[in-house]
Amino acid sequence: MQNNNFDNIMSFHIDNGAFRGRFSRLSKTIDTIINKHDYPLPIAGALAETIGIASVLASSLKYDGLFTLQIQTAKAPISLIVVDITSQGQIRAYAKYDEEHLKYSQTKRKMSGKMEPAPHLLGLGTLAFTVDQGKNSELYQGIVELKGNTLADCVLRYFRKSEQLDTAFRMCVEPPKIDSKLGWKVSTLMLQKMPTTGGKIKENVKEEDMTEAWNEAKVFLDSLTDKEMIDENIDSLNLMHRVYHNNELTLTNSQNISFKCRCSKDKITETIKSFEKNQIMDMIIDSKISVKCHFCSHDYVFEGDELKTLVGG
Ligand SMILES: [Zn+2]
Repeated sequence: MQNNNFDNIMSFHIDNGAFRGRFSRLSKTIDTIINKHDYPLPIAGALAETIGIASVLASSLKYDGLFTLQIQTAKAPISLIVVDITSQGQIRAYAKYDEEHLKYSQTKRKMSGKMEPAPHLLGLGTLAFTVDQGKNSELYQGIVELKGNTLADCVLRYFRKSEQLDTAFRMCVEPPKIDSKLGWKVSTLMLQKMPTTGGKIKENVKEEDMTEAWNEAKVFLDSLTDKEMIDENIDSLNLMHRVYHNNELTLTNSQNISFKCRCSKDKITETIKSFEKNQIMDMIIDSKISVKCHFCSHDYVFEGDELKTLVGG
């Protein structure tokens, strides 16, 4: 079910541009992505958390093209998570996991079947994000080791080390509940202290006053309850006004978010054609080649003449 208070990302400034915020609230988008797969709850939860983080990161970057966040790990229940987001706000995502490994690791921690913060199921690895704006522009890339209890902790380290940007997060991930009209609800709020030089800050503002204001803004952020974060009846802007009622709050953008996969038979054909002929022959089972899209689980089947063209007649 669609709810206007969800499936959008709001961008705002507070205190005359001293701090910038991104507030993402997703529901139907997450439902659609998760319903395309048969993920156990812990995997679905970890994927939902990753999508929430990816959505605010993508929104904080100016780009015209594709943002991709990729988590790769070794020796963990989840070995891969990919989330990509177009500048038009279309998201797709999937997770690759090992069922046995998940059971083993959750039993060991007495967490069987329960949701856990993503890093618990990811172990050691990296979180990388790229921005691809097409042929004539540079690829922007950020990479950080997976360390921290939550993905937000991990991304905080990236901003501190690589960008020297003070950042704060507040996040809530809730699986579908019987008493809620909506399904999954993922609410992610990111606040950043903008650099004092080159920003919009007045020159006569002292650094210590800025630090104090930043600490205060973080306290307000932490004052948000989970219930408020995912409240279906309050819109994001009202909620932010409630939290930052003493600060000058300016809405800078609001973007709608939805699920959309960009796969097509043509793209799958190109991928298959990039393999050697003998490798393509090995893909044939029962006189056909079936390729399932990782993102949306759509099955592409090549048989008869189509198959003949693929293997070169
Ligand atoms: Zn697809």
